[in-house]
Amino acid sequence: MNLSEISKLSEDDARATLERIRWPSGPVCTHCGAVDHLKKLEGKAHRPGLYKCNDCGEQFTATVNTVMEDSHLPIRIWLMAFSIICGAKKGISALQLQRQLGLGSYRTAWHLAHRIRYAMKQEPLAGLLAGVVEGDETYVGGKPRKFAGPRKGPKYSRGRGTKKVPVVALVERDGRVRAMPVERVDAKTLAKFVRANVDPNAALHTDEWAGYKTVGKEFAGGHHVVNHGKREYAREGVTINSAESFRGGPGLRDRMAAWLRWILGSIMPPISPRLPA
Ligand SMILES: [Zn+2]
Repeated sequence: MNLSEISKLSEDDARATLERIRWPSGPVCTHCGAVDHLKKLEGKAHRPGLYKCNDCGEQFTATVNTVMEDSHLPIRIWLMAFSIICGAKKGISALQLQRQLGLGSYRTAWHLAHRIRYAMKQEPLAGLLAGVVEGDETYVGGKPRKFAGPRKGPKYSRGRGTKKVPVVALVERDGRVRAMPVERVDAKTLAKFVRANVDPNAALHTDEWAGYKTVGKEFAGGHHVVNHGKREYAREGVTINSAESFRGGPGLRDRMAAWLRWILGSIMPPISPRLPA
């Protein structure tokens, strides 16, 4: 979308554009990472673009946690300013920005330029694990033995009936680690944790646990399943393959979207390691 197209957007369309950039697979709660049970709050009583998450009870819009949060400027103006500043090879002054946007106030233009430059100085997708990310569960006190009993009933869990606390860990290749103790390692819990911590362009590597299946589909780098039995061997193969396909890279569109997400500062709050005492 070029500048003149952006300039013609209605505020509703500009918001829809921002939502598509921030949430390529549909809205995600900015507080807890939930994607189900989200309700769009419509009508005059609510500000436009407001969602309510019935998982955590919080409300959010697509501008939460971005440099646009708390701004009274139309989203269209922000998108135009992003486009101008990002497209300017030699940088642009606040005065030039004011003229190009047709803004009445120099102060507003200066403020816009300042916030966008601030966002551009942040680490790309700061806080989100990127590249090849491996997801795994471990259990405090060691991995339990395989559970031989029936796969049903309250006792059945990923821990195979164990009382040990499962800890989900996400490990960035040669990089950072996020870990969190969880009550159970079901699809919903895993999806929230993965989504809140991993860049949508990453390649997700996990074992064959079905809990990763749904959330795995959301990653542009693909979901690579490693068979438990042949773990080391298979893992090496998958890693090589995905590293290669990653270098070829996701399409330009995906990279653009990732970049815009970075510029917009639309970063999920990172969950810090919080192990039980
Ligand atoms: Zn929520």
